[in-house]
Amino acid sequence: MKIGFIGLGNMGAPMAANLTKAGHEVVGFDMADVSVEGVTMAASGAEAAKDADVVITMLPNGQILRAVADEIIPVMKKGAAFVDCSTVDVDSARAVAEKAAAAGLLPVDAPVSGGVGGATAGTLTFMAGGSDEAFAKAAPLFEIMGQKAVHCGEAGAGQAAKICNNMILGVTMIATCEAFALADKLGLDRQKMFDVVSTSSGYSWSMNAYCPAPGVGPQSPADNDYQPGFAAELMLKDLRLSQQAAESADADTPMGKAATALYEQFVEHEGGQGMDFSAMLPRFEKRGRD
Ligand code: NAD
Repeated sequence: MKIGFIGLGNMGAPMAANLTKAGHEVVGFDMADVSVEGVTMAASGAEAAKDADVVITMLPNGQILRAVADEIIPVMKKGAAFVDCSTVDVDSARAVAEKAAAAGLLPVDAPVSGGVGGATAGTLTFMAGGSDEAFAKAAPLFEIMGQKAVHCGEAGAGQAAKICNNMILGVTMIATCEAFALADKLGLDRQKMFDVVSTSSGYSWSMNAYCPAPGVGPQSPADNDYQPGFAAELMLKDLRLSQQAAESADADTPMGKAATALYEQFVEHEGGQGMDFSAMLPRFEKRGRD
């Protein structure tokens, strides 16, 4: 299959690399000067998209996705799939899907879970929204880049699932970090804390797979000075999307609201910008109860 891949950042680059390793021809484009082994770089998004059977986008937000979509939809081949794997607001996902479908394309919103580790290992989870035909066209590529793909429903359903998942992630990361900081103050060894919680009812992906304490649990951004990984500002972006969605759907999400406020404070006033989202632990370490 001929694939266009637009947005070759922390996530997009390893995803595109896995597609080339599986024998697909990938033409890529990124605003930044990047190169990915096996990917032929194009001079624009339109050039990367024009002959492709499937175009995959992996971009920072809905506004950028809408702009890229306006550039590539008119040049894409009829019947090609437009698979957006970025995390964006449900409204942008639906608007782009509508334009793509009107142009004879097969749109899929397919955000991912699993982080840079999952993107590199080809073990992402895809949560997809779109028609059966569009999902079927993208599915073989999901199999290469991931370990699981769930067809969640029509356009926007993938983003809805992603936003709910990441609201849980933001809340559990904060809970895990504040528990470590409390454990420190109670004189409990961090390794012992991990040994207990990771096999007890407080376990979660934040504790077990992405432990925020350096030197404890599997390798994670905490072991690399909290370099992202999944940046705190991207977590904040997803939490804001969850609150925007909760507002428009009239859903009560108090923990999501509290997590959004904490990440906002961390990113905008406490030096969290550019750090991994698990750097909430040193943030709590420095604080007392006030
Ligand atoms: P990133 O910032 O590393 O990558 C985004 C890339 O898009 C950058 O290389 C940037 O130069 C490029 N870009 C921006 N505007 C562009 C344009 N107009 N045309 C072409 N390229 C453009 O971000 P990332 O961590 O790779 O995340 C990408 C998406 O995946 C985001 O929506 C994020 O929320 C989501 N996501 C990230 C993770 C993670 O762990 N990093 C996990 C799941 C989902």
